[in-house]
Amino acid sequence: MFKSVLLLGHFRGIRIEIHASWVIIFALLMITMTAGLQREYPDWTMIEALSTSLFTALTFFASIVAHELGHSLVAIKRGVPVSAITLFIFGGIAQLNKDSENATDEFWIAIAGPIVSFVLALVFSVLSGLTSQWYEPVAVGFGWLAMINMMVALFNLIPGFPLDGGRVFRALVWKVTGDAGKGVRAAVAGGRLVAYGLFGFGLWNILVVGNLLGGVWIMLIAWFLLNMAEGHGQSFNLKSRLEGIRARDLADPHVPVVPSHTPVDEWIQYQVLPAGQRAFMVASGHRMLGLVSLSDARKIDRDRWPATRVEDIMTPLDTLIHIESDTGAAELLQLMTEHNLNQIPVMENGHVTGWIDRERVLRTISLHMELKA
Ligand SMILES: [Zn+2]
Repeated sequence: MFKSVLLLGHFRGIRIEIHASWVIIFALLMITMTAGLQREYPDWTMIEALSTSLFTALTFFASIVAHELGHSLVAIKRGVPVSAITLFIFGGIAQLNKDSENATDEFWIAIAGPIVSFVLALVFSVLSGLTSQWYEPVAVGFGWLAMINMMVALFNLIPGFPLDGGRVFRALVWKVTGDAGKGVRAAVAGGRLVAYGLFGFGLWNILVVGNLLGGVWIMLIAWFLLNMAEGHGQSFNLKSRLEGIRARDLADPHVPVVPSHTPVDEWIQYQVLPAGQRAFMVASGHRMLGLVSLSDARKIDRDRWPATRVEDIMTPLDTLIHIESDTGAAELLQLMTEHNLNQIPVMENGHVTGWIDRERVLRTISLHMELKA
């Protein structure tokens, strides 16, 4: 999903990365904070104002990582794997590899982040008090950190998707009604309400207060939240409707095969073009060796096609991304999107038993859904 990310490091197997947009926020934060500090504390030197901003911005950044680690470590402890924490323009997200299986897990994973922010707010406010007599810039920095962490905690507790409070709300409704779907619908409705409320607040800022820039900014956030809330709802609906559909139900049993010694030009002329099929399994007799696709052919010069055999340019079976026949449809779609695959072989006990093509699979899925509905 995020292409322009910078890897910061790993913690307990979790990738910690920053999205490029964060750098812009960081720079803006530095500039506005330094200017603000200079205005408010005119007796400070430029170096004091700058280093206070830098210290505060970096610690704020670490606080967001701590908030996301709070979600992630609780998730891992409860058996939900986490692949990465990405820091981006509005804060951070922990990329959980699957949904929680019950309301209690969901509740604790969601609430862990705001709890970390609350604790940090308390710690920073104590530190600010302790250092106030010692050195003003440090105390001011800690004071700001206490305030911003408190804001992060409170904002995230608003009960609407995609905020943490939305997930907490979802977990509570789920726990009370025993219905995961009801929880999702409640949290989406909450998210919509929050977004419309913010939208109104933005409009009020523009029309009544005359704060054009602030108003536009608030409306943008509202629009972003609304999209995320609707997206959550839709992906849950899709997931629950895909439930029970497995790769084997979607696979075409006719696997397109090309003999391993076929020259690339003949394969393209006699198989690819007539069949309108961009990838084939490469076989020697009944043994599958790998997969060759049109993009493999395009990597070599056209005049080398007659002298090159398909097995020379194929992806060998052992490095090939494939899917087991009992894998669920949701996971299959995610894998194909993640690796940008147009086709994928389906395997059962080490044998290729079927073929999944992106265009065809979407049609097949919609047929399955029509039959279920
Ligand atoms: Zn959170």
